Amino acid sequence: MSSYLGGGVLLYVRELVDWDRYFRLRKGEDVDVEAEKAALVGVLETAAGICAEIEVDARRGWEQAARLEDGRVLYPDHIQAGYDKLREAGLVSLGVEEQYGGFGLPALVTNLVIQMVARADASLMTIVGLQTGVAEDIQQYASEELKQQYLPRFASGEVMGAMDLTESQAGSDLGGITTRATEEGGRFFLEGEKIFITNGGCEVHLVLARDDDTFDASKGTTNGLSLYLCPRTLPDGTPNGVCVARLEHKLGIHGSPTATVTFERAEAWAVGKKGDGFKAMLSLMNNARLGVAAQGIGISEAALAAALRYARERVQFGKPIGDQPLMKNLLARMVLALEGSRALLYRACVLVDRNRAIRVHLASHPDLNAAERADLDDLYHKNETRYRLLTPLAKYLATEHSDFITRAAIQVHGGLGFMAESEVGKLHQDSIITTIYEGTSEIQVSFALKEIGKGALQVVFEEIGKELEGLSDPPLQEYADKVRHGIERILDASSALMADFDYALLSARSLADIVIDVIVGAELLKQANVDSRRFDLAASWINRRMLDVEATAQRIKEGTTARIDRAERILALVD
Ligand SMILES: Cc1cc2nc3c(=O)[nH]c(=O)nc-3n(C[C@H](O)[C@H](O)[C@H](O)COP(=O)(O)OP(=O)(O)OC[C@H]3O[C@@H](n4cnc5c(N)ncnc54)[C@H](O)[C@@H]3O)c2cc1C
Repeated sequence: MSSYLGGGVLLYVRELVDWDRYFRLRKGEDVDVEAEKAALVGVLETAAGICAEIEVDARRGWEQAARLEDGRVLYPDHIQAGYDKLREAGLVSLGVEEQYGGFGLPALVTNLVIQMVARADASLMTIVGLQTGVAEDIQQYASEELKQQYLPRFASGEVMGAMDLTESQAGSDLGGITTRATEEGGRFFLEGEKIFITNGGCEVHLVLARDDDTFDASKGTTNGLSLYLCPRTLPDGTPNGVCVARLEHKLGIHGSPTATVTFERAEAWAVGKKGDGFKAMLSLMNNARLGVAAQGIGISEAALAAALRYARERVQFGKPIGDQPLMKNLLARMVLALEGSRALLYRACVLVDRNRAIRVHLASHPDLNAAERADLDDLYHKNETRYRLLTPLAKYLATEHSDFITRAAIQVHGGLGFMAESEVGKLHQDSIITTIYEGTSEIQVSFALKEIGKGALQVVFEEIGKELEGLSDPPLQEYADKVRHGIERILDASSALMADFDYALLSARSLADIVIDVIVGAELLKQANVDSRRFDLAASWINRRMLDVEATAQRIKEGTTARIDRAERILALVD
């Protein structure tokens, strides 16, 4: 079996997802669930084989950057070759529905493929990830005409996509956007400049712009923003007013072009309702956040594999360094961090998939009786609440862990890890950006806090509580009780916290950490329930993390906004 499919990937797909319910809701009662599952595993095996090939050239060509020549972006050889391989296998726009030429694959499988691509080549992943994300946003929000025009071209890999949000004055705060969309006789034209646009030389741009008629009234807010599809080439074949003005030099992901893109009277087509652009973009960003979490996991897998290999080979003090207790502990912590990230991301993806299946079922069964419809509606809204909390948490966890795992992999390699040619050094440089783009870690935990403020914890914990009740065998039950205790402590602390939003913001990261601790603890116990070899993983996570939950919950509960003043006094000590 390819190492790309190790570490619980197939365990999830084969044992931990209720595919029966998913496929029956999506495809009807007559569906052959086993055949559908086998097809999903087949996709993953194909992707694993291709990614193992891509990895070889990606490591050799890591330093090669995209170039700008006569306004065209030229990809490094390993990026172009990798993209072509994935494209030939039909693996570039996995979520596009069958009717538009795609496979309509579940988010879990799409993200597993993205994770494998990232493990092979973190730069290539940015291109494939956007390809999938932009296509899915068009699928969800664009008119039927735009879908027919673009989705088959996305599915075949003929066109690529970019997401154009950031401007020099509008980074984390998209309320600062000033790119202007003007309507003239039912046609829209864009004027402005976007910076840091990944794959900015591509054909299809999804641009967040401020509408001219409400420009001044909405300035500084996310109201009055609309989403536009802006192609480089107009339908009649003439060039549109979209230009790549420059490419950035970066610390990592060199093969991923990061562009300044200018729009000069560029014609664009509205995607979704006017003024609802921020909402539509949030859906694209949520998909992209899951994708970046998958990227963090892929990079972590590569670093961990290299660290384990080296720890077994390198002998010091008469034995392999991996046999030294301190090193063993570090390597075990790296595995725990990786498996924790995986558990949270896959849980979030499964929730997204459940809702997509419910949506298809409700749309294709207008005759459903009122009680059944109400039950599914209720489940849909609860799942939505759950993944709106889990998505930022998954992005935050997987990318921060990627930072830790890749840095720890350098430590395992000692002096060799710091050499310019070090593989793990390059992986670390690639991993840094994951905690910044698609919303920084600070923005992810602030988003999570907002969801908690709306009552998401109760809805998430209600489901976890039921899952823990199902774990009644003695060794699992003991650990399930510890997680349940952690949940009680968090609920107690969070209700105190929410009374003061400034203090809540100060504590957002600590709260996110302990919420993650219990969700992952429960998820790892579920894994141990179907595969007893994973019991030690769950036990180790819970033993370590529930102590943190206890202490952090206590500290959050006892704190006040006085801590902000204290932080200011500490900062004042620095001249
Ligand atoms: C390689 C690369 C690729 C990118 N690709 C794209 C792309 O394809 N499309 C696109 O639109 N953008 C893209 N970006 C932009 C990226 O999304 C932004 O850089 C990111 O959102 C942060 O914005 P900023 O750089 O302006 O930082 P700022 O918003 O200025 O933030 C600086 C620091 O302040 C913190 N901060 C800001 N506000 C708060 C707050 N309210 N609470 C706590 N802390 C806060 C941040 O967490 C960060 O640590 C890319 C960036 C890079 C570097």
